[in-house]
Amino acid sequence: MRNRYAVANWKMNLPAEGIAAYAAALRPPAAIRMVIAPAFPYLAELRGKVTLAGQNCADQRSGAFTGEVSPVMLRDWGAEFVILGHSERRTLFGETDALIARKLKLALEVGLTPILCVGEDLKIRESGKAAMFVANQIKSAAPEGTAEVVLAYEPIWAIGTGKNATGAMVAEMVKELRAALARFWPAGADERTSILYGGSVTPDNIADLGQQGQIDGYLVGGACLQSSKFSAICEGVARLATA
Ligand code: PEP
Repeated sequence: MRNRYAVANWKMNLPAEGIAAYAAALRPPAAIRMVIAPAFPYLAELRGKVTLAGQNCADQRSGAFTGEVSPVMLRDWGAEFVILGHSERRTLFGETDALIARKLKLALEVGLTPILCVGEDLKIRESGKAAMFVANQIKSAAPEGTAEVVLAYEPIWAIGTGKNATGAMVAEMVKELRAALARFWPAGADERTSILYGGSVTPDNIADLGQQGQIDGYLVGGACLQSSKFSAICEGVARLATA
């Protein structure tokens, strides 16, 4: 059975209730993996309390790369996961598929589990080329071995916009993603890879996504900044139809 995930991407934000109160309020169901991705300076404060992810990492182990954080350092801080290829990294910071592939390879080498984000913008969706676009993103990030990589389908038009994809739309894309994994990744990746959905997920819209979406969890931005909302989403992951 694939792992099921609720991943909180705090981005460059902090929960209003404070980090300690937020962490203390979370009681994830035993059947799921709950992962929190704070900005780098807050990893230490959360270490030992929750499972941690970095929001990004460098494609180098060490060296003269001012402002960068190595995946080795992330691991030393207690992170087990790292989000890679988030659309904000791709669009705001110019990250290319080739750079993301190098980061993914190094993250795996140092023992982190990458959470690889893929997804199309509205123009690509409207042109009918979304499946081909995400398949190419998957192809270019193909890992060499069979270590776990989590995939997050995050259509850019749904991130932080309040417009989430419907369960039916997500299910259609999950089919395409699994076909691309079968085609381009090592044998068995299509079966073993957990696929999450991200894009304006809230406790109010997870019923349709969870029942129809064929997903293994959620990557959450805005709604994860309140422990009560993120807890409700964690409960939703435990009820997923793929369980
Ligand atoms: C994200 O940042 O990955 C995300 C999905 O954000 P939001 O939930 O706010 O759309």
